[in-house]
Amino acid sequence: MNNAANQTAKSVPDINPGEENKVELDRLIQILQREAAETAGWTGRKRFSDPVIDAIRRVPRHAFFPERPSMFEAYANRPYPIGFGQTISQPYIVALMTELADLTPTARVLEVGTGSGYQAAVLAELAQDVFTIERIEELAQHAKRVFKTLGYANIHVAHDDGSKGWAEHAPYDVIVVTAAAQKIPKALIDQLAPGGRMIIPIGGQWDPQSLTLGIKDQAGKFTKVPLLPVAFVPLVCTNA
Ligand code: SAH
Repeated sequence: MNNAANQTAKSVPDINPGEENKVELDRLIQILQREAAETAGWTGRKRFSDPVIDAIRRVPRHAFFPERPSMFEAYANRPYPIGFGQTISQPYIVALMTELADLTPTARVLEVGTGSGYQAAVLAELAQDVFTIERIEELAQHAKRVFKTLGYANIHVAHDDGSKGWAEHAPYDVIVVTAAAQKIPKALIDQLAPGGRMIIPIGGQWDPQSLTLGIKDQAGKFTKVPLLPVAFVPLVCTNA
């Protein structure tokens, strides 16, 4: 048995963009729209928009799992462990964060917490460029390989502490943070463009967390609107 070949095969699951996920994806989208309606009182969004739904349809979530999942697992509306104590986010949360971003085709996006890479790929379907930062090197490397296999040339990955942002490419029209912070890191507010939007869960690991929309007005004033109770893994800040 050729071990090296086996390991390569495992490190990026086979991606067959055919119809194999169609039934599960259709079912997932119905569930997402139902959940959007149920949570509209919090989020202000009764349905996911067509561009967001199309993005969810185009991204093969099964390709982002560390090992090839069943289609049932891959398109269940649930988070799933990806190793290192981290998770691939629940599809509803990915759709909601993408919806709240109000992306335009020229948007430049910073994501903190690449994890599996799934959220970054959904954002990259709708934005011009996505810059994504992950503190766990193995996860950053795995996501990079999946982006390459799927042909996402507009996703740029850094292995670093994302609470510092990524100053080189700032400012960003949208910043999406996929780990919970006690307090929004100042660097992220600084790197948001005037008129920009930030979507970030605020709260401790075991405390109630609030998915929060931050808006910077044209004059540079930043305001926060707490929207929805959520449960994210913590943002690990080494420079706080
Ligand atoms: N967006 C991911 C979900 C990621 S879970 C997806 O779609 O799958 C949150 C991720 O944030 C974890 O991988 C964790 O390692 C990462 N993280 C936590 N603190 C971080 C920090 N300070 N900088 C960069 N990544 C961080």
